[in-house]
Amino acid sequence: MSRVIARADEGNVPTVTTERGERAVFCGLTSIIWLHRRIQDAFFLVVGSRTCAHLLQSAAGVMIFAEPRFATAILGERDLAGMADCHEELDRVVSELLGRRPDIRRLFLVGSCPSEVIKLDLANAAARLQVVHDNRLRISAFSGSGIETTFTQGEDQCLTSMVPDLPTAKEGAQRLMVVGTLADIVEEQFRRHFTSLGITDVDFFPAARADDLPSVGPGTRVLLAQPYVSDTVSALSKRGAKLITAPFPLGAEGTLGWFQAAAAEWGHSAESVRELLATPLARAQKALAKAKECLQGRSIHFLPDSQLEIPLARFLRDECGMSLLEVATPYLDQTLMADELQQLGAEVSLIEGSDLDSALARVRANRPDLTVCGMGIANPLEAEGLRTKWSIELIFTPIQGFDQVADLAGLFARPLMRERQLEVGSWS
Ligand code: SF4
Repeated sequence: MSRVIARADEGNVPTVTTERGERAVFCGLTSIIWLHRRIQDAFFLVVGSRTCAHLLQSAAGVMIFAEPRFATAILGERDLAGMADCHEELDRVVSELLGRRPDIRRLFLVGSCPSEVIKLDLANAAARLQVVHDNRLRISAFSGSGIETTFTQGEDQCLTSMVPDLPTAKEGAQRLMVVGTLADIVEEQFRRHFTSLGITDVDFFPAARADDLPSVGPGTRVLLAQPYVSDTVSALSKRGAKLITAPFPLGAEGTLGWFQAAAAEWGHSAESVRELLATPLARAQKALAKAKECLQGRSIHFLPDSQLEIPLARFLRDECGMSLLEVATPYLDQTLMADELQQLGAEVSLIEGSDLDSALARVRANRPDLTVCGMGIANPLEAEGLRTKWSIELIFTPIQGFDQVADLAGLFARPLMRERQLEVGSWS
């Protein structure tokens, strides 16, 4: 697989090597797991195959006692002539579902990658069904297909599908919109910190309730909580919103920088933000100490998977003392990552979409203390005596903000501590 130097940047940012490796990651349907927990009155109806149904059931578990908020409408093989029947069938399934579930306030029709589903125009189907159920709820469609996408892009597509429904903001009013799914507890903490900075006009997108749609317009300042929302940011920019260039709120310093970047839009100096957030910052630094003991001086290699790789690498190097052997990410949006790339610096080996075979060869040659990768790659590496961390765990665990710093570092420290315990155990 040929390697292309995509950009030899001026200044202190890494040179990015772009490869066209195959994706060895979960598909976008996986995002339904965290999205349905976040948007508590939404329903995700996947139009897909039995494989899609199995993926969702095994990843999310089957909810026996609770009313589920996702399901798969399984589409058999059809030729194009049978598509009209498919639409009729879809209308029937949606009507039945909505008849049984008055609690649902937003319905997502989620496309997948079987060719029969690709032939269906789900955006049109959503528009048609919206007319029928207009007084009742909002309906939109997005694709969770695994063709050429990573699992986190499902969230990006989901949020993009909601942007047309956001009300237009009143002119002149400046409001902050935090974009990207966060755990409820992290949202509460962030709201408290924003209040202590005097910033109270804050919306979170997506919100816990589907009807809590933030308004958007030229006064909207977008602050990203997650790095994988490029299409959502484009859609919001088209509605006049302005992106705040900031690090991601991972680690104590990353979180501080995130608040400082937001507060600068409200006229606060970086120093005043540091003073106002001194207590949670000190608490985070203290909490980090134990995990840092374990991580300091250890080496790490990131294989491309979640799109969180760059801010995580910055945190592990700068706050935990790890050395970065290689940082690979499936896609690199240089606008969204501008601040992180500056902090990462020119010395880091950064690869976009790395070719799996050659990347694994480098892992085997360098034998890092820890490799961050997808689940499918982790087991073979473990069998070769290498320690791994599943990157999907970083999506399912609340890791953003000051109060989660120790948990975040702990996720990386745990496999190394386990290894030490095994070594001690095998000698005792
Ligand atoms: S969307 Fe595609 S990759 Fe994902 S489970 Fe369905 S068939 Fe598999």
